[in-house]
Amino acid sequence: MAKTIAAVATGNSVSGIGIIRISGDNAIEIADKVFKAVDGTPLSSLKGYTAKFGNVYCDGESFDNAVALVFRNPKSYTGEDVVELSVHGGIFIVEKTLEAVFSAGAVPAQAGEFTKRAFLNGKMDLAQAEGVAALISAQGQEAAKASFNLLQGSLSNKISQVLDELINCSASMAAWVDYPDEEIPDLEENTLKEILENSAASLSELLKNYENGAVMTQGVDTAIVGRPNAGKSTLMNMLSGAQKSIVTHIEGTTRDIVENSVRLGNLVLHLSDTAGIRESDDIVESIGIKKAIDKMNSASLILAVFDSSDTLNDDDRMLIESCKGKPCVAVVNKTDLQRKIDLSQIKTYFDKIVYISAKNNEGTQELEQAVKELLGVENFDSSQPILANQRQKLCVSNAYNYICQAIDGVQMGITYDAINVMIDSAVDELLSLTGKKATEEVVNNIFSRFCVGK
Ligand code: GDP
Repeated sequence: MAKTIAAVATGNSVSGIGIIRISGDNAIEIADKVFKAVDGTPLSSLKGYTAKFGNVYCDGESFDNAVALVFRNPKSYTGEDVVELSVHGGIFIVEKTLEAVFSAGAVPAQAGEFTKRAFLNGKMDLAQAEGVAALISAQGQEAAKASFNLLQGSLSNKISQVLDELINCSASMAAWVDYPDEEIPDLEENTLKEILENSAASLSELLKNYENGAVMTQGVDTAIVGRPNAGKSTLMNMLSGAQKSIVTHIEGTTRDIVENSVRLGNLVLHLSDTAGIRESDDIVESIGIKKAIDKMNSASLILAVFDSSDTLNDDDRMLIESCKGKPCVAVVNKTDLQRKIDLSQIKTYFDKIVYISAKNNEGTQELEQAVKELLGVENFDSSQPILANQRQKLCVSNAYNYICQAIDGVQMGITYDAINVMIDSAVDELLSLTGKKATEEVVNNIFSRFCVGK
């Protein structure tokens, strides 16, 4: 019998209410020791999906009002008996309730243990469980939508269609190979090829969308670069809506890299506001400049900021040079001032140019559009199934490779039992994606990345 676990399901901060979740065979019995309904009804006499108002107790003394919500297995998040106690959301009260629940016999839940139990009890597959994690960490509208679809089973359904085809195909081939004398209808080579090609096409579509999905759900590693005083910190502040970088009119203020995640419309940018790129004799500043160049080389997006109220100087030319061949948007800043910059060079080297006034908060939408076009996600459709992480991508790409090998095998006329080995390997990869054949290590690894209480 699995132990009954408990944890705080809401965040560790002061809030209106805090919820303590208890799950396991003794959940209701344990909750009855901590919670007493005002009308005296014990929770153990309640049906599932029933709430009671009452008080929570520690050492016989009540210390808060609470609502207890009872779920009966299998109709709960974990598939076990679950009680959720909602108390006032002070950190002390929430912790005290949790302590009382532990004293009554529950043990602390590990990170992700509620969702792991939901998976083990067949309430969701691994891809859906990963959707839960993605949804919790989603920082923007598209990320939330795509993660919710994952949780609802969009990827699992697509994978299971491919699996059905492959398993049927593999079973027919195995029967034909194992019982050659029986009257088993021959699996036509063309039918076999068609099934394999359709499966490969479905998987290839998922792989193709992976990068776009990752941009939308995981955010974009972005470097803001530009000469000192171009307005990088101001741009970063405009995007983050807070004074994170120090803005001054003295050149070279931003010496190190400031990291911050901000929302640009539907996108999330993980910004690094770097030192300005320039020739410098100052050792500390040179280190900052070196870091800025490294950051430019590793970033998925570069916002190259230019000061439109000044003519281009050597630092700007150095920046233009360093941007060549990289995913850059030229951000021409300070459009509220009189323009002195000669735009012809910028127009020659940058496909995407956006005009903004960071100080006046102007140009965000144009910047969003330019960034989306540059990254190729302007038509991203969050209602389509996407692969949420590297693990899922690896399973699909391995399965895809096995299917391609099988298609080649059919073309070369190799024996059905050899082709079947490749199809079975593809099936194993897809079953490991949904968790039907995932190793304990993989499962533990996935859930260890969840927060406690989820
Ligand atoms: P950085 O060195 O590139 O990070 O530049 P800062 O963001 O520190 O900005 C340098 C100076 O330019 C500050 O005095 C800002 O207030 C000013 N500045 C930045 N953006 C704008 C803008 O759009 N318009 C105007 N008029 N001034 C700006």
